[in-house]
Amino acid sequence: MKNVMDIFKTMEYGPAPESATPALAWIQERQPFGLFINNQWVKPSSGEYLESINPATGKLLAKIASASSADVDTAVAAARAAFETWGKTPGHVRARYLYAIARHIQKHSRLLAVLESLDNGKPIRETRDIDIPLVARHFYYHAGWAQLMSGELPGYEPLGVVGQIIPWNFPLLMLAWKIAPALAMGNTVVLKPARYTSLTALKFAEIMQEIDLPPGVVNIVTGEASQVGEALVRHPDVNKIAFTGSTEVGRSIRRATAGSGKKLSLELGGKSPFIVFDDADLDSVVEGVVDAIWFNQGQVCCAGSRLLVQEDIADQLITKLRARMEKLRIGEPLDKAVDIGAIVSPGQLKEIQRLVATGVEEGAHIWQPSWACPTEGYFFPPTLFTNVSPATTIAQVEIFGPVLVAMTFRTPAEAVALANNTRYGLAASVWSENINLALDIAPKIKAGTVWINCTNMFDASSGFGGYRESGFGREGGKEGLYEYVRPSWEMQKSVPPREFPVAIDTASSNGADGAHDGQGATGEGAGDEEKTEEFPISSNGYQSAFASLPPIDRTPKMFIKGKQVRPDSGYSRDVYGPHGQVVGQVGEGNRKDIRNAVEAAHAASGWATGTTFSKSQILYYIAENLSAREAEFARRIVQQTGRSLADATAEVQASISRLFSYAAWSDKYEGDVHRPPLRGVTLAMKEPIGVIGMAAPDDYPLLGFVSLIAPAIAMGNTVVAIPSEKAPLSATDFYQILETSDVPPGVVNIVTGERDTLTQVLAEHDDVDAMWYFGSAEGSKRVEFASAGNMKRTWVNYGHPRNWLDTVQGEGEEFLREATQVKNIWVPYGE
Ligand code: NAD
Ligand code: MN
Repeated sequence: MKNVMDIFKTMEYGPAPESATPALAWIQERQPFGLFINNQWVKPSSGEYLESINPATGKLLAKIASASSADVDTAVAAARAAFETWGKTPGHVRARYLYAIARHIQKHSRLLAVLESLDNGKPIRETRDIDIPLVARHFYYHAGWAQLMSGELPGYEPLGVVGQIIPWNFPLLMLAWKIAPALAMGNTVVLKPARYTSLTALKFAEIMQEIDLPPGVVNIVTGEASQVGEALVRHPDVNKIAFTGSTEVGRSIRRATAGSGKKLSLELGGKSPFIVFDDADLDSVVEGVVDAIWFNQGQVCCAGSRLLVQEDIADQLITKLRARMEKLRIGEPLDKAVDIGAIVSPGQLKEIQRLVATGVEEGAHIWQPSWACPTEGYFFPPTLFTNVSPATTIAQVEIFGPVLVAMTFRTPAEAVALANNTRYGLAASVWSENINLALDIAPKIKAGTVWINCTNMFDASSGFGGYRESGFGREGGKEGLYEYVRPSWEMQKSVPPREFPVAIDTASSNGADGAHDGQGATGEGAGDEEKTEEFPISSNGYQSAFASLPPIDRTPKMFIKGKQVRPDSGYSRDVYGPHGQVVGQVGEGNRKDIRNAVEAAHAASGWATGTTFSKSQILYYIAENLSAREAEFARRIVQQTGRSLADATAEVQASISRLFSYAAWSDKYEGDVHRPPLRGVTLAMKEPIGVIGMAAPDDYPLLGFVSLIAPAIAMGNTVVAIPSEKAPLSATDFYQILETSDVPPGVVNIVTGERDTLTQVLAEHDDVDAMWYFGSAEGSKRVEFASAGNMKRTWVNYGHPRNWLDTVQGEGEEFLREATQVKNIWVPYGE
């Protein structure tokens, strides 16, 4: 027993444990836990249970149901039945339920915090002060969106049944990030918690009963990934999968859902940079590093796991950091004075040990504090690697443990290059007392969240999610809502496919005209007796003595880096008119042409940093130049499709109007400034995605092409476009418009040829950041599958038609959203 004088001398902390008794009693009364389906506890059909352990002791905590795919079927059926009503429940009613959930989270906050610490091993200080308050905040925030949905998201509807799969590192918080927006937007849910950490989700299920949520709206199915996870991913009656977890599993889910039409959002891994400039306040930096990499034992997707320090202060910072690490306290997670708790499972501990051993083998210097970890349970000490070279395993691979790797840089440009030298793009922090420097660096980093002079801050108002192989989709913010809705017109499935090419003999001409246009946007012309003439493309109405001379052959080429280029293959393909007659030739593009085009698009990335005003000027200029050649472009459409001149003219005019729309949007589709609960703001910037590959639809040779390239370049992307395969001549004529409209070389590249073959090359290309595809169902599936290589974003039509003439379907925010990604930059104020 120490006396007061001893304590006074050493200033050692004594134990300050939170009692586990109420939580353990709660578990004892209920276990073995069942599955939560239709607001009832049901036994797993297999009769099998899994053991959940307390990682701080290694001892059994509870038995939880191990569901099979049959149980998943039952849960999905319950969610489907519930959706019939819940999907039509007024926003205000849904808001009341979400509000009740938030209130009940707060009422049970202590139990939830203790359960989370027991089950996951994270310190009670974190669950009590961070996890659970953020959970409540998320439900409050989304209660608000349920209330406002009809006014703020007009024209959108819920998706239906959503399958949600979450990891073990923030069990209840990840549940909240998934369930709150899903319910707010009118969906019903089947959620699979992580195998090691299901307990708070099961307490959450009880809250669903307490608040009398209609049965089937939220179903919770525990069990193994290979049973429950895969069954959910493959279930034909699930409309969306929302997944948070490793990039590896995310990739397999992308492939498994390819072509199914399931909407997908993926929140994946990271290797986030923590950048320290030499003018930073080093004492704050040290505390920042502690929060960046030792919060939750480093088991944080956005952990600042790569410390990038300006060379001249590196030694000083490392010395300070080691001194601080020596003072960190590791141990019993329920002790309120503990900084670092236990690693979630023996498997995860082994993986950390393996990667740390690799780092040592790779020649990096390892440093750990002198004190020893508890011998019971799964603990790993805070670890710092210096002398790390950027290409090594420990600098590139997500360790997901309390392990920091340090590297140095000299200049801001080097810092950015080093920061972006990763396949991930989840988060970054930038430390400097020079606000100009920090705000200059933030947009240059490819990551969904950038924290300036702070780290690991979260709020429901500020969307969270990745760039690159950290996944796509956002959770939180208004942008996160769109992951749970789709345009109402899509649900009506009433857009009839437009026949192509339209044969011009009277009988089928009538039929085709009747079929093409549900909205009646043109409809004039084609049905009457107007005889469609053949317009030789060389005809310009010029009357002269030489009118009878043969036309000069015009050979459309491909358009790469602002130049007209011949196809690498040396082959051409014929373009046929409506009677099967040859109306021209275009280049037969191949892999090499696509690669050249992608390279050119990359080289033109400076387009993103130009002003929005200049982009809008150029789009207006394109429209102006197209308008000057309206008749010629209309005739070209007629020549390829056999549609009436009036109908073709309407398509050209719609294309001009579309260019005007995006000229208008380019300086108006702007970001937001959020006010999260801190002294400061977050700047939600809409950034371009990068290089977008696109395959244009067949049915509107000009309008389909323009409708894709215009929003993409308006938002600062550069593109590689594959025109309509059947009628490519409108797009190849279009490069002359681009050439005369001050579009910088490489911003728009056009490669003609077989759509699906060229698309495959684009979809597999690691330097393409997104792929838009408007073709067949089979082609859509191949795009989604191939995209998994670098986890590029995709936008495909699954073979469904879209009425490109209609401004609701053919333009607007849906296109702009596909052309952008939101980056949240956190900027705290004050001294
Ligand atoms: P994990 O990918 O192994 O598992 C995540 C979830 O998916 C678990 O519920 C698991 O049971 C399930 N699952 C596994 N294989 C599956 C399959 N084939 N089909 C369907 N479901 C399957 O990841 P983890 O180890 O639980 O979590 C750590 C990872 O999660 C890290 O990479 C981390 O960066 C990432 N993470 C990302 C975010 C984010 O928001 N971006 C947040 C937290 C964690
Ligand atoms: Mn556990």
